[in-house]
Amino acid sequence: MASSDPHSLSGQTALVTGGSSGIGRAACLELARAGADVAVNYHGSQDAAEEAAAAIRALGRRAIAVQGDVGSEGDVAAMFDEAENALGPLDIVVSNAGLQRDAKFAEMTLDDWDTVIRTNLTGGFLVAREAVRRFRKKGRRPETSRALGKLIFDSSVHQRIPWAFHVNYAASKGGLKILMESIAQEVAVEGIRVNAVAPGAIATDINKLEREKAGGLEAMLQLIPHGRVGDPEDVGRVIAFLASDASDYIVGQTLFVDGGMALYPGFRGNG
Ligand code: NAD
Repeated sequence: MASSDPHSLSGQTALVTGGSSGIGRAACLELARAGADVAVNYHGSQDAAEEAAAAIRALGRRAIAVQGDVGSEGDVAAMFDEAENALGPLDIVVSNAGLQRDAKFAEMTLDDWDTVIRTNLTGGFLVAREAVRRFRKKGRRPETSRALGKLIFDSSVHQRIPWAFHVNYAASKGGLKILMESIAQEVAVEGIRVNAVAPGAIATDINKLEREKAGGLEAMLQLIPHGRVGDPEDVGRVIAFLASDASDYIVGQTLFVDGGMALYPGFRGNG
């Protein structure tokens, strides 16, 4: 039987892509706090990934930093191998890595488009496909979880809210939404639970320039009924929940973690 605490991830192993910074790093730590051992994938910043792994170890869990580009089929297979060789079969995979390449629509280059789609959408596909293959190979472990495996995508409010000057990003997240739901529908019968989080404005490197430019923070706050920019931990905690048996009956859903950003805040003043 799984732990009597349905939030516990004790005895489970996780891989988080883009885990060396921002929301990914927070997810790594929240998963570890709940009891999981964690492989921290990074693309460029080895020091930051090693630091995140050290913070996980300080919580009493095992951790390893694994390099790899989520847009590369070979890298994805290799990062799963490295994670499983070090920590054992994976129970939880968080497909979090993502980036932006913003431009006015008519000036967006094919490279801007391809870079974002390759990382955010193709990367999500490659990581998800590898996760499903590994979960099947591992088999059920009812002593740790009711599910065969848990896969969580980091999407965005822009899977629903159109975003001028960021059409590549919005298209990638809109694609992720239906990718996530279609995979969830296909594999739920095997006990693989697939879900997503859709963050709003969270204080990370991805939006640092926008937040720190003159008037940037104020403009952002206009869009957030809750009245504050989110912290990475706000999202990390929800990812840990979706990885746990506490969410065992949630399948193919996106949890918006956005302080109300998706609620058409322009209508707050009586329309
Ligand atoms: P971040 O820039 O700190 O994190 C993104 C991480 O992805 C970085 O560690 C980066 O190195 C990694 N990455 C980029 N390309 C990669 C690749 N090819 N292979 C492996 N790793 C790669 O920013 P963040 O806000 O923590 O972003 C994490 C996720 O959250 C992204 O998918 C982003 O779209 C999503 N998100 C963020 C916000 C926000 O407001 N911060 C809102 C909605 C969605």
